[in-house]
Amino acid sequence: MAAAFNPNGDTVVLARQSSFEGLVVQHGANRYLVEIVHGGEKELWACSIAGRLRQGRREQVRVAVIGDRVRVKAVEDPEAARGQVVEVLPRENRISRPAPSGGLRRAREQLVMANLDRLWVIASLAQPPMNLHFVDRVFAAAEHQGVASGLILNKADLVDDEPREITQLYRGLGVPVLLCSAVTGRGIEELRAALSQGIDVLLGLSGVGKTSLLGRIEPGLDLKISAVGTKSGQGRHTTTVSRLYPLESGGYLADTPGMREFGLWGMVKKDLADCFVEFTPHALDCRFRDCLHVSEPGCGVR
Ligand code: GDP
Ligand code: ZN
Repeated sequence: MAAAFNPNGDTVVLARQSSFEGLVVQHGANRYLVEIVHGGEKELWACSIAGRLRQGRREQVRVAVIGDRVRVKAVEDPEAARGQVVEVLPRENRISRPAPSGGLRRAREQLVMANLDRLWVIASLAQPPMNLHFVDRVFAAAEHQGVASGLILNKADLVDDEPREITQLYRGLGVPVLLCSAVTGRGIEELRAALSQGIDVLLGLSGVGKTSLLGRIEPGLDLKISAVGTKSGQGRHTTTVSRLYPLESGGYLADTPGMREFGLWGMVKKDLADCFVEFTPHALDCRFRDCLHVSEPGCGVR
């Protein structure tokens, strides 16, 4: 980039030399960690954000989030930042949630991450029993935001029969389904291969085996992720820091507290039901037109 031929004269070349394209791998309060390829090597730069990108925005609005491609300028900064984010490049997609409202009646959108390649839902085939409602809720959100999804059925070692109905249902919808066991190692090779070379995220309710699978996908990754969190009564994953973890295979796994609790932006209950891709054909059979397909009598979806 810096050495690119430039017919427009030395001044522009110099300006370009001090600006790099990078990937936001961590965001916190007004501080970003940006991965930059510099002289053929990956470097992590602590970055602040240009004042003009913040202008007219509320304090709690995030200018950039993990997954964002940004343009960074090298700076000499008394606060030890190496760079300043001067531009956020256009996003392929964005995951958001309702911002903590702080007493406001209407929630605001809070960006959680950008440019996600695939969102994987981990469900457990037993202990705890499968929660398809959660799976569909997350798929609905992914669909809504134009993000590809995938399903990981973990704890395959605990069931005798293949969960054929479930695998057929989701595969029929074009969703990759993997049968895994963090105990026996079944499906782990497949899972590693199925992760995109870009940015993936694993979501799942507590106890389904997220931590165990992380450890299987890449030894040490589970430890790295829990080390970022502060230990608290709410469990080892309680953290306010969102991060992308580089995988040996070349892609990244995202970990973000906003995704774990998974508030959904812009989706009231009815909205959500309409987004469940597999609902559409059956919804015509429901007794009530505004059926939420949760516990209604005569529901054709449930
Ligand atoms: P997390 O809350 O989603 O991070 O789940 P953990 O990885 O902490 O796992 C919860 C419990 O399920 C632990 O006791 C694990 O040992 C167990 N577990 C995780 N994966 C498997 C699996 O594939 N098979 C069986 N039998 N147990 C598992
Ligand atoms: Zn219904």
